[in-house]
Amino acid sequence: TITMSFVEYRDTIKDGDTAIVFLGHESMFPVKVQHGGKTQTKYGVIRHSTDLIGKRYGSKVTCSKGGWVFILHPTPELWTMNLPHRTQILYSTDISLITMMLELKPGSIVCESGTGSGSLSHAIIRTVAPTGHLYTVEFHQQRAEKAEEEFQEHKVEHLVTVKNQDVCKNGFGVSNVADAVFLDIPSPWEAIGHAKSALKIEGGRICSFSPCIEQVQRTCLAMEEHGFTEINTLESLLRVYNVRTVSLQIPDLGKAAEDNSGTGFDSSNQSNPESLYGILQQGTAQFKSGVPLKEMVGHTGYLTFATKSLF
Ligand code: SAM
Repeated sequence: TITMSFVEYRDTIKDGDTAIVFLGHESMFPVKVQHGGKTQTKYGVIRHSTDLIGKRYGSKVTCSKGGWVFILHPTPELWTMNLPHRTQILYSTDISLITMMLELKPGSIVCESGTGSGSLSHAIIRTVAPTGHLYTVEFHQQRAEKAEEEFQEHKVEHLVTVKNQDVCKNGFGVSNVADAVFLDIPSPWEAIGHAKSALKIEGGRICSFSPCIEQVQRTCLAMEEHGFTEINTLESLLRVYNVRTVSLQIPDLGKAAEDNSGTGFDSSNQSNPESLYGILQQGTAQFKSGVPLKEMVGHTGYLTFATKSLF
């Protein structure tokens, strides 16, 4: 009977949960579930006590005007798509690359600055739970306080420490504990020395995000000066979604199976238009025209990774 948390899945919606009201891929928002609370949607009102509390996450909920929405369990990815922006944020394309290249896993100790809107922080916390920890440093007082509040609402406060200080002047407030350090600040080169002291004696990984190549150059120089190795800069590019509706002939499975003497899929038979494989390959494709091409969400920037090693 514990309540919802961003690091554990629960079946039923409870008072105090943060849930995602999903009207469509382009239209969703977070809601704080409260006894007696009401939420307006274009399909009418959702009454928390009768429509949400006690229902299963993933349920369709009918609103007062008869339309319906899905109520989803929160995840860091849904939070990234719905959080209140107090700053620029990192999106899931960059976050997934960061998580992999920093080798984050359950139990990892991570230092981050700045916290910003906490988009990356939520993803890090989920990945390092239940035994790891995030130390996140934000010098803007209100942002630090807001992040702290959100971590409490999302029931992850035991996994994170927020520090309101200047990472370039005062560092992360911990030394020789981190497996990984992440920087998303305007002058990361000023924090490389502090990052090095936050990392474990035996070493670890670092990453810095910058939108401009001049920032990247200064950061790489600072990393080299502080003895970091394997310095690599990656750019995660946004693809344009090219969504098409394709109609294929309905394959005659009986005949295809016969043609392939019982083997079903046989790639040597690809050129035979009568085989299942052939039909699927050559099937008449009808493309819907005029479908607007949509770019993935995200923004362009460079991710510079490096390693601190013992020797
Ligand atoms: N990665 C964050 C996210 O995904 O939500 C966004 C970070 S935002 C772009 C940069 C943040 O760094 C701002 O909130 C800013 O106040 C903070 N910041 C800038 N310089 C800093 C410094 N020297 N020490 C601590 N925080 C700093």
